[in-house]
Amino acid sequence: MKINMSYGSGGIQTSNLIHDIFLKNFNNKILNKLEDSAVLKVEGNIAYTTDSFVVTPLFFNGGDIGKLAVCGTVNDLTMMGAIPKYLTAGFIIEEGTEIETIDAIAKSMALAAKEAKVKIVAGDTKVIEGNGGVYINTSGIGEIAQKGVSIANCHKGDVILLSGNLGEHHAAIMSHRMGIENNIKSDCAPLISILNKLMEQKIKIHFMRDVTRGGLATVLNEIVSSSSCGVEIDEGSLPVSNEVKGFCDILGLDPLYMANEGKMIAVVPQNQADMALKAIHKSKYGKDAKIIGRITEGKSVTMITTLKGSRRIDILYGEGLPRIC
Ligand code: MG
Repeated sequence: MKINMSYGSGGIQTSNLIHDIFLKNFNNKILNKLEDSAVLKVEGNIAYTTDSFVVTPLFFNGGDIGKLAVCGTVNDLTMMGAIPKYLTAGFIIEEGTEIETIDAIAKSMALAAKEAKVKIVAGDTKVIEGNGGVYINTSGIGEIAQKGVSIANCHKGDVILLSGNLGEHHAAIMSHRMGIENNIKSDCAPLISILNKLMEQKIKIHFMRDVTRGGLATVLNEIVSSSSCGVEIDEGSLPVSNEVKGFCDILGLDPLYMANEGKMIAVVPQNQADMALKAIHKSKYGKDAKIIGRITEGKSVTMITTLKGSRRIDILYGEGLPRIC
């Protein structure tokens, strides 16, 4: 069965879609009430964010738009030191989409939400003319558990940790679009376990950010433009899997500018860096974490190359790879 305009009418077919797909998969007491808004209990300060997802293809090696829509918003909350609690999900569905496709996306969202321990408590569906496209907006609320995480708190001498290998999401999407067969999987994942491990060890986290569109180069340049510091990284320390490295070599790509969906940096005081690295290594998605550099006095991002030269790393210019998340 395909979605047609009547599924967006607000009538019986909309109601069927809500019950048979969304309530069935997201099933929780707050959503099941189907009231005009979700009424939520939260403690203390909250982090609140929103993100829209337009990735194509909808399904790719290692994930799909639904998993991405949950993990993306969960990770933005986590990066502010918040424990994600509640999400909303807005679907814009083009006519011609198979109902089974929406069901598979909702199933995947439910699975990701379960792992991230968040509830999807409100939602919306619209149907528009088109040809089988699906777009999702998620917003999220998290309770602040680690106070004072901010880009403004990066200080000279702080150490920068990266939670794992670069470029996997980007390479997986590109492989799919180009019809290249390989084993590269998107790294799409919720990163709360990394925050939890850092908090267990009482690490004073100065700053965290997930490394998504624009890649590591862009995130590091954001530190420079939003704080009064510079950044220095060591080329030899940057983790990239052999398979992604091979993929990049053939296509002339630079992992520094490639998108990820399950990687983050943490900036911590120098005297806690080794402890923080050990903590990240113990988390589910941090086994390949590395110390990659430090905050400096300068006003730019510099990479010390493996040949001991120095290269300036600029922000990503241009469009990168469109519709990657
Ligand atoms: Mg982010």
